[in-house]
Parts: sequence; structure tokens; C-alpha cells
Amino acid sequence: MANKKSIAVLTSGGDAQGMNPAVRAVVRAAVHKDFDVYTIYEGYKGMILGGDYIRKAGWSAGGGILQKGGTSIGSARSDAFRTKEGRRQAVQNLISRGIDALVVIGGDGSLTGANVLRQEWTEHTDALLEEGKIDHAFAEKYRSIFIAGLVGSIDNDMCGTDMTIGADSALFRITEAVDAIISTAASHQRTFVIKVMGRNCGYLALMAGLSCGADWVFIPEDPPKPGEWEENMCALLKAGRDSGRRDSIVILAEGAQDTEGNPIGSSDVQKVLEERLGEDTRVTILGHVQRGGAPSAYDRYMTTLLGCTAVEKIASSSPDDEPLLIGVQENDVITAPLMKCVADTQLIRELIKSGDYDKAMELRGVGFTEAYETLKVMLRTLPSTAAADQKQLRIAVLHGGGPAAGMNTAALTAVRIGLDHGHVMLGVSDGFRGLIEGKFKEMDWMSVGGWVNIGGAELGTNRKELTGTDYYAIARTIEEHKIDAILMIGGWSGYQAIYNMYQKRKDFHAFNIPMVCLPATINNNLPGSERSIGSDTALNNIVQVVDKIKQSAVASKRCFVVEVMGRHCGFLALVSGIATGAERVYLHEEGVKLIDLQKDLDHLVEGFSKGKRLGLMIRNERANSLYSTTFMAALFEEEGGDLFDVRQAILGHLQQGGDPSPFDRILAIRLARLCTEHLITECLEGRKPVSFIGLQKGKVDFVDMARWPELVDAEFQRPVKQWWMTNLRHIARIMAEAPEGAEY
Ligand code: ADP
Repeated sequence: MANKKSIAVLTSGGDAQGMNPAVRAVVRAAVHKDFDVYTIYEGYKGMILGGDYIRKAGWSAGGGILQKGGTSIGSARSDAFRTKEGRRQAVQNLISRGIDALVVIGGDGSLTGANVLRQEWTEHTDALLEEGKIDHAFAEKYRSIFIAGLVGSIDNDMCGTDMTIGADSALFRITEAVDAIISTAASHQRTFVIKVMGRNCGYLALMAGLSCGADWVFIPEDPPKPGEWEENMCALLKAGRDSGRRDSIVILAEGAQDTEGNPIGSSDVQKVLEERLGEDTRVTILGHVQRGGAPSAYDRYMTTLLGCTAVEKIASSSPDDEPLLIGVQENDVITAPLMKCVADTQLIRELIKSGDYDKAMELRGVGFTEAYETLKVMLRTLPSTAAADQKQLRIAVLHGGGPAAGMNTAALTAVRIGLDHGHVMLGVSDGFRGLIEGKFKEMDWMSVGGWVNIGGAELGTNRKELTGTDYYAIARTIEEHKIDAILMIGGWSGYQAIYNMYQKRKDFHAFNIPMVCLPATINNNLPGSERSIGSDTALNNIVQVVDKIKQSAVASKRCFVVEVMGRHCGFLALVSGIATGAERVYLHEEGVKLIDLQKDLDHLVEGFSKGKRLGLMIRNERANSLYSTTFMAALFEEEGGDLFDVRQAILGHLQQGGDPSPFDRILAIRLARLCTEHLITECLEGRKPVSFIGLQKGKVDFVDMARWPELVDAEFQRPVKQWWMTNLRHIARIMAEAPEGAEY
């Protein structure tokens, strides 16, 4: 095969959750392309040592590691790789195995190292030729190497990608810990100073502060003036206590410092709080737990996508091509010139060192700066005093549809942003039923205190469908309560209700106000947004349970048929299938045929007779109305005979419950702020659009509600086009099934 490649993959630098799924994806995608693939153990150290450190990998090299934290192929720091001699030895080891492409999974140090290797490559091949270590043909054939870089770092400190591998899992660990600390802090009215990792980058501290409702946050990108921060922090924390806050939480980034470059340590903050406020202040340094544990759902499926993309890029590249960074922009995988990304990342470090904080903040990207602006509002204990001359609006916030984790986070954000702009925010109890009955409650700043991290929907939500006189009743309450705008945070039935109101504008004048829908449903079945709030939490709930189910089967040969929610939308089934390593997913979108089940059964029989110990099938709850989960489990059990047994697990409502994941909290905060500000602007400028917000093709935008019918499949309540069917469906297959005849 003319363009057959030989790939080596390594993990290097600090370990991060998600490195294993990345290695697995590279190995399996490469096997599918019939490429030779090697795993290099212990990072660059192994690349230099060669021998058994560089091992040819088959399909099975990716087995059993998806759910494991850290990196199974090891990571090490290598001083030898910083020397030319070391790198020359590495080149020889790679060339002698015919390796012509490298996937480096590591932080900016590791990626810088990869680039140095690439830049010097010809120099090394010339020298190796001269030294007689390789012949002419080899020197000619391996004159360069293509490098794909995947950023593995919990710090999320790399330019060119919105997320680094491990950052989402680390945030998970942090938010779990901070949530737990908040409950004990509140019991004793204590103050906690919590230090999080991140080296020079404030991402983890910022996002943890935002998603846990911290009261003060220190990040390296916006250092306070020495002598000032003590006073400002104490004043704010005191105001918080005065307004009824039972807990005070300060989050401190590892790289926190003042404008003079003096590090701000947790004990400095503790001392100030104890001395000036007389607060009982405890310090928690989260340390390496942030790096540990199983990767989050996001760090499994997104990383799998990154690994597969790296192999795709290698397939279409030539060794002379510039190294590429494979990263993420919003929900899409993107590529960028690796060296520019590394250079920009290093520049931020320099800018912080030299005191150019504005520029450093700008280079962190819009997502970071917007989140920081939002945090500053959220930290307040009272709304800022808005311009008195503007019209004070009355904005209603309600939910619609089933509960989804993150609804409270979104409602809290909307209320505080609205109040901060000087408007009246009205919480509607019980969704559209409350709107019909006029159940409005004027919300103040502290009425939403503590909502940021709790699951469920404090305002109440249900799947009420509007009919008959409901419209009249709603029109009346809108008029009576002088509602200027409506924010609906919810799922399908909420969207449908707002669409129906929009359709009836001619009949009911009261509906001629701006209205916006914010996607919040575990099903992720709404048009206009690739992700809805709650879907990430549901995925993590599924992944955590399936990990346990898989472990329960170690002693026997067993196949599980796991049923997940989603109504007629297969998002949860497919993505949890990728994130748990399921060998088959059953989706309503594709239907289930008897012939498929026969094939799957044959596959199971073949696998178990060859020594396989575990089978995992994930079925969407409505994949097929006749071939139910029970039916499928019974079929496999009966036909599998003594070879294996089968158990079914219907996961049910645990998928809707639980506290929101950091991903859902961050998305909720971001979208709720944009929606609220959008409603305010539209109202004040006299426009009356009805729309839904969403994240699409790398950006957030509003879609006109008039497009609802054209964008949805109303019968099955899902978008006509589902991005994950295009982007992720084939990946689920590639990861699950070894190609015929592949080396195991
Ligand atoms: P991270 O990749 O997590 O940033 P490090 O900065 O420790 O971690 O880098 C990991 C390894 O990458 C180092 O031990 C070294 O072998 C290699 N490396 C880092 N920077 C360079 C460089 N400038 N030149 C060559 N190799 C480097």
C-alpha cells in the first residue's frame, strides 16, 4: 500500500485523565487504516531507550484502558531528550522501525520537544548516515516526520484549543471537592481557602469559582495590587456574611500573585482573613487528586474524537507537512499549526511575568474573558446600581420539560444578571402551569443563593402542553403582571409551548414580547444547539454506573444490555457508548432489525468463545418498540447458551438526577447570561424577537423561532440534522469493532 503509514504514539509530561482514551483511539483508528502502530512507553525517555520501550501495538493494546485515569503507557520527564544526542538516538530508534508519523500527547513542554525534534530531523538523519548508523535509502526514505500534537494537561493552558485533555475531569474533581467543602463550611459558618492547580493558568480556579459559587477568586491573569486585595477581599466577604451567606469560599490558583509578582499563598490569605475578619479560616490544598481518577465522559468521547482525527490527518499528510495541533473549538475538532500554539502559550507566560496582564487575558480567548466578567458579577452580594434613567423591565424566568441538571444554575445566572442590569426578575413556579396561574415570585439576589450547584429545578418544571384556554390565561397573566420578556430554560415541551405562543401572536397581543428558549434537557434533542444543559451530567451519570456494572462482571463471562434515556434521540446512547467502550449501540434513528441482532449475537458468540469476558450493548429506550431491552437480553441469553450469561440494566431516572457537572454549569452560566442580556437589549430597543439560543459550528447564536418547524422532526421530537450522527456515529463503530483479520 503506497500510503501505508507507521505511527508511534506516546504520552509525555504531567499525566492527565483522558490520555488513555486518546492512546486507545489512535491505536484503534490506525489499526482500521491498516497502519503499523507503536506505543512508546515512558514518553521521550522510552523513545531514547528504544528496545521494549517501543512496542508494536495491535487492537488489544486499546483494551481495558478507556476508564482508567493517568496513562497506561507511562509518562516520564526526560532530561536526555533536551540534549541533541538524546534526540538523535530517538530519531534512530524511530527510523529503524520505519516510523514516519508521531502522535505526541502532552503539555506544551512535550509539544515543544516534539517540534524541536521535527526541526532537527534532517540534521540527525544526515549525521546518522555519516556515522554509518543508517544507509542512504533509509536517510532518503525517512527525511522527515509528521507530528500531530494532542494537548494532555489538566491546566487548560494551551492556546489553539478551548479544552485540553484532562481539564474537564480535573474540574470534576475540584467541583466535587468544593461542593463538599461548601456544605461543611455552611454548617459552621466557616471560611475556606481552596488552592487548585493550573500552573500559570487561572482556568481551573476561574471555572471552579464560577461553577461552585465562590466568593473570591485569585487568578494569575488578573493579579491584585499588593495592599489592596486584602481590603477588597475582606470587604466583600464581610458583605456576604452580612447578607446572610453561611459559607465563604476563596479559590486560589496555584500561580496566584500580586501585581508586583509576589506569590499569594493560601496561608497569606488565611492569615488576612483571620486577622482582619476574625473568621475561622481553613485551608484545603487539593493537590494531585485533581489529576487522578477516571476520566469524565467528555474526556473520553472528545478525546476519542481527537485521537481519530490525528490518525485521519496522518493519513492525508506527508512527512514534510508542518506539525499540527489537534484541538477543540466549542464542540468541534479543529487543527492549528502546533508551533504557533506553543509560541502563543509561552508568550502568555512571558506577558504575565512582564506585567502585561491585559494582553495575557486577551490571548486566553473570549471564553475565558467572558467567564471572568461573569464571575465578577456573580461574586457580588448585591446588584450593582444600574443607570436609574433606563426603563426597568420585568422579565419572567420559567422552565419547561423534564428536569435537567443545570436548570438551577441557569436560573440563578439569569436572575443575577437581570438584577445587576437593574431589572425586576420574576421566577415562575411550576413551568407553564405557573404561567397560566400567574405564579410569579419576585427574585432578589440572595433568593437564588446556593442554586449554582444543585440538581433538579427549584422553580419546578413539567411537560405541560398548552391547549385551548391556556393561551388566554397566559395572555392575561402576562398583562396583569406586566411581563416585558420571557426566558424559558427547558426542553422540548418548553420550546414547543413558546413556539405555539409565537404562532398565536395575532390572536393574543400579549405574546408580542421578546421570548427566548435556552436548551436544558438531558436528551440533547433540540435544534439550534449541539449541546443542551443537563446532557453532560446525564452522560457522566451513565458512564459512572456502566463502569461499575462492567466491574461487577469480572468473575464471569457476561454481556450487559444497558438501556439509557433520550426518548427518540440517540445522543445519550451513542455518546455513552463511545465513552464506555460499548461494542454496539442501538438507536431509534437507525432502527433495529432482526438481522442486526443475529449479527450481534454471532459476534458475541465468536468473541466469548475466543476468551472475551465482557460484552456491553447500549440501547436507547425507544430504539425499537418491539425489540425491547428485556427481549434483547432474553434473546442473547437463550442463544448464547452456556458460553456467557446476559443481564439487563435499565438505568432510569438516575440519569436526570445528580448535581450538574462542571461542563453543564459553565454552559448554563454562559447561555443564561447571553439570553438575559439579549432580552434586555431587544426590549429596550423595542424589538420583539422569539428565538432559541445555541452552540453551533463553533459559535453561540440565536435562531429565529420561525425556523422551528423546518429544523425539527416533530414526530420523533428531535432535530432533523443531528451533528453527532455525522461526527460521532462512525467513530463508535471504529472503536468497537476490530477490522476483519486485524492483528489482535
Ligand atoms: P509538559 O509536557 O506537561 O508541559 P514538561 O514541560 O515537563 O511537561 O515536558 C515534558 C518533557 O518534554 C520534558 O521532560 C522533556 O523531555 C521534553 N521537553 C520539554 N521542553 C523541551 C524542549 N524545549 N526541548 C526538548 N525537549 C523538551
